[in-house]
Amino acid sequence: MLPLVYHPSYSFPLPANHRFPVGKYERLKAALERDLAKVPHRYFAAEPDPQYPLRWHCPDYASAFLAQRLEPSMARRIGFPMSDRLIERTLAANKGTLLAAELALEQGLALHLSGGYHHAHYAKGGGFCIFNDLAMAAQTLVAGGKVKRVLVFDCDVHQGDGTATMLAGHPDCISVSVHAERNYPARKPDSDLDVALPEGLTDGPYLAAVEEALSLALRYYQPDLVLYDAGVDIHAADELGHFQVSSAGVLARDKLVLGRCLMDDIPVAAVIGGGYQKNLDAVVTLHRLLFQAAAELRP
Ligand SMILES: [Zn+2]
Repeated sequence: MLPLVYHPSYSFPLPANHRFPVGKYERLKAALERDLAKVPHRYFAAEPDPQYPLRWHCPDYASAFLAQRLEPSMARRIGFPMSDRLIERTLAANKGTLLAAELALEQGLALHLSGGYHHAHYAKGGGFCIFNDLAMAAQTLVAGGKVKRVLVFDCDVHQGDGTATMLAGHPDCISVSVHAERNYPARKPDSDLDVALPEGLTDGPYLAAVEEALSLALRYYQPDLVLYDAGVDIHAADELGHFQVSSAGVLARDKLVLGRCLMDDIPVAAVIGGGYQKNLDAVVTLHRLLFQAAAELRP
């Protein structure tokens, strides 16, 4: 049985022509009804919990966001107009990654139909990220004694700058980012391991770099949980990415990462991460590959 995490708040109203493809979550859910018709699976939802970001983020920042009192410059960095629906969605999706991680610890593998807010720092958001679901889940599970060491393995095309700063100084929460060298964010604080790749990269060298980074991280850090950010903005058609990776390459990457964790008996929870194209169906088609990979790997 494949555990999936989703909450109906994930797709929320944004102004027309807003750059963020917010409709992709409900479309992904609908597409998976068909894709997973013959794959045993079950949906779980995390309820919005304001205490969760207050525990791990700067309380002044978190409470200002929750009260819709962020400075305009702080809100602009995030890129979303403030609203009750944004707050509900943010809280549910952040807790959803923790739920997926807990399900992975029980069942080996779990997938979240959202998540990957790796540009959120302790006291500020950025790039459509408000709170850092990956850093919060890693810290929660280590602090609660559920695991000794967590690896955040981030394959979004953009560097995981927020995860890097939030997990700096936490030797049991490891951040690894495989990303495009010249891309947002301009300033890239050090992760535990950064693999910065040149633009225009195609499937072969990209997959080799991912495999090398994952092998190194698993061998060196020996995590007992992996949080995998399966951003699809590595795809050639992505409007914010700089790579030339094909759809087959995205699927191969997801199978490589999930398969290696399963083979090594390391629980793995995956989040869908970034994917930016005006054509929503094209983005959803790419996100579906993560679920296809999981379905093919599950016995
Ligand atoms: Zn991205």
